Formats: sequence, structure tokens, C-alpha cells
Amino acid sequence: MKPAPFRYVRARSVDDAVAALARDPEAKLLAGGQSLIAMMNVRAVKPETLVDINALSALDYIKVKDGGIAIGAMTRHETVKSSPLVAEHCPLLAEAYHWIAHRAVRNRGTYGGNLCHADPASENPAVALVTGATMVLKSAKGERTVAADDFFKGVYQTAARHDELLIEVRIPSRPKGQGWGFMEVSPRKGDFAMTAVVCTLELAGATVKTARVAYAGIADRAMRFAPVEAALTGKPANEATFAAAGAAARKAINPSSDFHADEAMRRDLAETLTRRVLAAAKARCT
Ligand SMILES: Cc1cc2nc3c(=O)[nH]c(=O)nc-3n(C[C@H](O)[C@H](O)[C@H](O)COP(=O)(O)OP(=O)(O)OC[C@H]3O[C@@H](n4cnc5c(N)ncnc54)[C@H](O)[C@@H]3O)c2cc1C
Repeated sequence: MKPAPFRYVRARSVDDAVAALARDPEAKLLAGGQSLIAMMNVRAVKPETLVDINALSALDYIKVKDGGIAIGAMTRHETVKSSPLVAEHCPLLAEAYHWIAHRAVRNRGTYGGNLCHADPASENPAVALVTGATMVLKSAKGERTVAADDFFKGVYQTAARHDELLIEVRIPSRPKGQGWGFMEVSPRKGDFAMTAVVCTLELAGATVKTARVAYAGIADRAMRFAPVEAALTGKPANEATFAAAGAAARKAINPSSDFHADEAMRRDLAETLTRRVLAAAKARCT
């Protein structure tokens, strides 16, 4: 199929882009087009106006800022994947990128477009949750920031209003001694996750000081679950505790079945990957 007719606007600046969004409530932003164009082709999305932001090179950067890294929304996946700054300040994000899409898709797709697309099986939203990322949104009315915990709202739904452009994502640097883990099962490497589990872990001696664990592919959005993190905080950092967190995950999640995996398989994956990802994170708590 072909997309429904639309008006095309090529934004030359961020102000241009937000003005175009303000003019038409049915407008959509075109970033890498790796998700949007497919949805337009099957007419699942029919924007009146397509606002192309590919000329906004000002939003293509990775820099150190305020105790963390700032990634411009138009930074291509492949740039994030190979960035030494990302590897140094957010090794979890660098690791997740080994699972995200294929090179051809990563060459075009953008980090910001991926987060705004908010696919429930996408890896980056889960990474954003455990690293405490913040989204910077801009509209014609001004700028605001939204914590990752408040950003993902449902299938393809975020807290960004229709007139807002994601301009930057801020991720705090990994604190010294914090471990991290990422594990995923997907139909093929580079496909969306059937289930992915992501965590950060900090120890106080042999005890878990803080743990953040997030899941992709098991709900309508990437999610953390309070019972999983409660099963870890203040407990001995050992196999028994990690197994208890896995059991808590099995109970807490409410996955659906689809042609990739049924509910029972997703519960098994969540339990097993939780246990393993925490053990991997502990080994990195140095
Ligand atoms: C074969 C294949 C495999 C893939 N595998 C994976 C995978 O394993 N994991 C994964 O996470 N993704 C995967 N993807 C999706 C890929 O990561 C896309 O690049 C990403 O989801 C969308 O980014 P984009 O820049 O292409 O955005 P687009 O497709 O251009 O836009 C996506 C949505 O975000 C909105 N948007 C874009 N930029 C902004 C912005 N700055 N501010 C506000 N809204 C914005 C658009 O309006 C649109 O609604 C895959 C895609 C393909 C084709």
C-alpha cells in the first residue's frame, strides 16, 4: 500500500519545526522514518502534514553535560552505538545497542525517534527507565523536561503533546561502582524483544543498596515493577535474592500472548532473565 496524501514540510530549524506542529494538530514529525513510514504505508497513521526534521543537524550530537551525557534527538542509532562517550558514561546503553535493529535501520533511525515511537518491545525505553534519563521537549510555548518514568504511557504513546518536539535526552553518568545488565530474547538478533530485562545495581558491601529493573516486551510499555525492586533493596546480593526478584517478576507482570511468545513463555523469560541480569550486574559492581 501507499500512504494517504499528506502535505510535506521540511523544517530548517527547531523553531520552524515547532511552528509547523503548532499550525496543524494532525501533523507528524518525520525523523529516520524507520517506524513511521511503515505505519503510513499501511495507513495505520494518516498525518495531514509531515514535518521532516532531517535537516536539523543541530539536534545531532552526543556531549558531556551536567554530570551525564546529552544526546540530541536526531542522533542516528549507529552513532550512539559506536560513541566512546556513551560507552564511558552509559555502558548499559552501549550494550543494549547490540540488540537494537540492523545496521541499515540503525544508519537512518534516530535515538529520539525511537523513544518517541514508544514501541512496547523496544529496548531504549527500558534503558531510559533504569538510567534515570530525562527527556527535553520543546514547543512554540517553551521547553519542559519529563523524567523517563513519566514519559512512556502506552503502545506508541508518550507524554509528549502533539505540538512538542523531543530535542534532547539527558542520561546521568554511571555512578562509580554501579553494575548493569541487559539480556534479551528475540525471534532473531536485531528484532524487537520478545522479552528484555535491563538493570542497574549498586551494592553497600555485600548488600543491595539500590536496584532498578525494567522490562520490555511484556506490557503496553517499558515498565519497572515495585515488588521486583523491593525484593532486592537491602537484601544480600546473592543468588537467592536474585531468584526471589525473578519470582517477584513472574508474579508482577501481566503479559499478553502473540505469535512470538505466549503469556507463560514471557513469564518464564522474565523470571530467568531477571535472575541472570542481576548476577551479570553484580559482577560489574567494581
Ligand atoms: C527491520 C527493523 C528492525 C527494527 N528493530 C528494532 C529493534 O530491535 N528495537 C527497536 O527499538 N527498534 C527497532 N526498529 C525500529 C527503529 O529503531 C526505528 O528507527 C525507531 O523505532 C524510530 O526511529 P525513527 O528515527 O526512524 O523515527 P520515525 O519512524 O521517523 O518516527 C517514529 C515516531 O516518532 C515520532 N518522532 C520522531 N522524532 C521525534 C522527535 N524528535 N520528537 C517527537 N516525536 C518524534 C514520529 O512523529 C513518529 O510518530 C526496527 C525497525 C526496522 C525497520
